[in-house]
Amino acid sequence: MVKICCIGAGYVGGPTMAMIAYKCPDVQVVVVDISASRINAWNSDHLPIFEPGLDDVVKSCRNKNLFFSTDVEAHIADSEIIFVSVNTPTKTRGLGAGKAADLTYWESAARMIADVAKTDKIVVEKSTVPVKTAEAIEKILTHNSKGVNFQILSNPEFLAEGTAMDDLAKPDRVLIGGRETPQGQKAVAALKAVYAKWIPENQIITMNLWSAELSKLAANAFLAQRISSINAMSALCEATGADVTEVAYAVGKDTRIGSRFLNASVGFGGSCFQKDILNLVYICECNGLPEVANYWRQVVQINDYQKARFVNRVVASMFNTVSGKKIAVLGFAFKKDTGDTRETPAIDVCLGLLGDKAQLSIYDPQVTEDQIGRDLATNKFDWDHPAHLVPTDPTAKKSVTKASNAYEAAKGAHGVCIMTEWDEFKTLDYQKIYDGMEKPAFFYDGRNVINVEALRKIGFIVYSVGKPLDP
Ligand code: NAD
Repeated sequence: MVKICCIGAGYVGGPTMAMIAYKCPDVQVVVVDISASRINAWNSDHLPIFEPGLDDVVKSCRNKNLFFSTDVEAHIADSEIIFVSVNTPTKTRGLGAGKAADLTYWESAARMIADVAKTDKIVVEKSTVPVKTAEAIEKILTHNSKGVNFQILSNPEFLAEGTAMDDLAKPDRVLIGGRETPQGQKAVAALKAVYAKWIPENQIITMNLWSAELSKLAANAFLAQRISSINAMSALCEATGADVTEVAYAVGKDTRIGSRFLNASVGFGGSCFQKDILNLVYICECNGLPEVANYWRQVVQINDYQKARFVNRVVASMFNTVSGKKIAVLGFAFKKDTGDTRETPAIDVCLGLLGDKAQLSIYDPQVTEDQIGRDLATNKFDWDHPAHLVPTDPTAKKSVTKASNAYEAAKGAHGVCIMTEWDEFKTLDYQKIYDGMEKPAFFYDGRNVINVEALRKIGFIVYSVGKPLDP
């Protein structure tokens, strides 16, 4: 039986390993983490992350060929293939602060592997890492162990939160990068054999290590760039009376461009896009390519601009102040079907509104009050540089309440902001919401998911990103 261990039981490690265990009954998979609370949750009825379809897959394999453990060292020692899926956040201090990837967790995982490995190991980069990381990992592993052969593979993950299980079951592609030596290619074949249990061979792409590492950063940069491109266009639409939905439709009909990822919104969020683009910017700078760095930096800058523009629109339309006004915030997660709030645009928007002394009532079906309190307390909106969220604004929580549904959030509010495109917001009784609000009742759709005309007919004054404004 092939034994696989995955270091890091997070949004990637947990679902990815659950899918491997589910599809490969003859493989033993152990997911390890230094966080005992995360591991306890994976072993309980309340998994630490919400992801449609995840519960069923985990429950069907757990304690059969899928295990979750805090005994990191023992399971590393026992496995042939070790995935490393630890967090690689943006560095907050020192060289490259604010841009470079912080590889502290990766390095400590690599040192632990070197310490305990007694037999040859295939070490798989599952985390998103800077191009050439495998070279650094090789140095750490080979200088810290004796008589053990390590093969490093790059196997970046392309799942999207909210659709992770479908993405893992039917990925567009699986990428495996390895050294072009016989041993490197043997390792590539071993990992390919695992994925080949359920993924057609022509969708498993093998390539050199650096191409695989860079492909992940490139893919996220291209996706985020499309969002920033349509969001930049949304500002021009508002200024000219064009409708961004119509423009996106027309543009997307060109088969060379395609229609996906062209929804104008308050901006992208999540733990990856901004971090990976900033990382790319840093790598370009380190390689003497400042023009290329500037090109990609713009993608993040437009995203910051879009969030600030949204806040300004809310405040300006409410007669230039939201001080003391209740505003309902519907949705806090960075996208629907996840409880993840990392880098959600809702944080910047809420902090911007709190900065103008609004009273916020927030409702999200998957995000807890603790999460919201923590997110708003540990970030501070910087009006001059909205990208730079710095700790801490201890007063933020006092003006914030968590509502148990959208109607409660909107009761007595002057305005409603849609921050996440949860399906349930599309079918709310907006007449009832309008009836319970102060007048004039303002509606700000940061995701362009609610029918503007229907809202206007009810009596709302509506702002929808990139749409013609109310007269
Ligand atoms: P996460 O923070 O949810 O999980 C990382 C886990 O690693 C944590 O539970 C942490 O406790 C654990 N960890 C850290 N150091 C450890 C160590 N030395 N030993 C054992 N456990 C350790 O992060 P995530 O969202 O799963 O992302 C992981 C990586 O995958 C990142 O590089 C990210 O960029 C990349 N990625 C994320 C997504 C996504 O949608 N979240 C998608 C593709 C790729």
